[in-house]
Amino acid sequence: MIKKLFRGIFGFPVWLIKKIRDWIIQIFRSFHLSMRRKITADYLTIYVISAVVSIVMVPLIFMFFEIDDHADEVSNVLNQYFVSYIEDEYDYEDLELKVNQVYLREEVSLKVGISESGTEDKYIYTGDYKSYDSPTGFLDFFDKLFDKGRVSKRIIRYDLLNPDSDRLLSFSVDGYYPLRLYMPEMVTLGIILIVFYCVGFVFMSMIGGARVKNILSPIFFMTKTAEQISVSNLDLRLDVESTKYELKDLAITLNDMLDRLNRDYGKQKRFVSDVSHELRTPISIINGYASMLERWGKKDEEILDESIEAIKGEAVNMQILVENLLTLVRSDNQTLRYEPSEFDIGEMVCSIVKEFNMVNTKEQYITCESRDHIKVYLDEAKIKQTMRIFIDNAIKYTPEKGGIQVKCYPVGDEVYLHVKDTGIGISKEDLPHLFERFYRSDESRTRQTGGHGLGLAIGKVIVISHQGRIRVKSKIGKGSEFIIILPLRMEDPVLES
Ligand code: ADP
Repeated sequence: MIKKLFRGIFGFPVWLIKKIRDWIIQIFRSFHLSMRRKITADYLTIYVISAVVSIVMVPLIFMFFEIDDHADEVSNVLNQYFVSYIEDEYDYEDLELKVNQVYLREEVSLKVGISESGTEDKYIYTGDYKSYDSPTGFLDFFDKLFDKGRVSKRIIRYDLLNPDSDRLLSFSVDGYYPLRLYMPEMVTLGIILIVFYCVGFVFMSMIGGARVKNILSPIFFMTKTAEQISVSNLDLRLDVESTKYELKDLAITLNDMLDRLNRDYGKQKRFVSDVSHELRTPISIINGYASMLERWGKKDEEILDESIEAIKGEAVNMQILVENLLTLVRSDNQTLRYEPSEFDIGEMVCSIVKEFNMVNTKEQYITCESRDHIKVYLDEAKIKQTMRIFIDNAIKYTPEKGGIQVKCYPVGDEVYLHVKDTGIGISKEDLPHLFERFYRSDESRTRQTGGHGLGLAIGKVIVISHQGRIRVKSKIGKGSEFIIILPLRMEDPVLES
């Protein structure tokens, strides 16, 4: 109900104000102001508003000070008259005569009120005071100010008791000050202020515009540089030195972002070129055997068998590569699923060692040592995959008659898995890169072993997703030891950064 009433009364004005605001915004938008012009326009608007306020207010304040000054003078003179009025036994005629002579400033008219207990109130008027009514309120004051061109002011008001006669005496003095008295000075003051503000406006727009241009100039250069940055030109950076304030922070942040993009793009490029490189060898082998079969192999059984064997081998090789790549891509896309379940990790690790012992064609001693019943809640298939990678590497990089030791034991709420070999070892330079994709410490030796350099990268992704960590100790010619530390229970998988 109240809402409806409110809408009924204020609905139209509110709608009109909103419409006007929209129009102003539309007009400003249609100018397509640049950021520099917009900032300049904004502070110039504030300048104009404060100029208008002071051009109106300063002359008014001047007028009120003038009136106050005059009122003080009147009050001094009249106070003396009131004293002599009391001393002269209330000689009213004499007071009236004196008051009428108080033309300290022509056109100022006064109304003097004398009220004595026991007698009727008396009023003395000077000038044309009588022809105007006193303002009765705030609005009335402005009405009189603009309509009749006068300002009224209460100059004196006091009550006193005459101890001799016991009479209560009240004096009041009101003054009417015509505006035209102060108008010439006020207009002059207004004109001086207008001229002053106009000159100020020109300076402000010139100096301020140049200052804003100077502050915003880095944006111009940043835009120019950003326009030149492309995939083939990701090394370009924004100039941080010549920028200031928040723009410096922005330039630094954008440069950091470009660094990250460049790094990621470089990784991506390297990844694609590594994949193509890895696929090129098996494809050219398959191609070679296919051509050989075409030329001579159809009739020659020996060539036929050899070709089929080689093509099958390379196909398996490519399948492993593609599967490994898929695992890594899924991990990057955060779509690699983890399905934890409870199992005995010691039992699992030793069964892997058993499998390897059965199929290992090399003369090596692989042993497994584990505490009984180490129950864990992890993704069994993924942990199996990881352990196979580490044990397979140990077998690959350990020569005949070498030894491989696998150990499993719990420490607190973690489980430690050791894969130690007496193989060729890893150099200090290679250690930091070991878990990078497609990293192989020695191209020639891995070609023999058939690895793609993805195994450890996959192992790391899986261990980190289980909130685990990996430690490596190695010495060239002596052997390597990989220690995989996993929690007994996995939480939500952690994604590798
Ligand atoms: P690959 O499939 O080539 O073995 P990995 O990612 O499993 O790829 O290993 C990366 C590289 O780390 C290997 O090429 C090898 O040079 C080195 N490496 C891994 N494990 C061992 C190990 N036990 N002993 C010596 N070098 C190793």
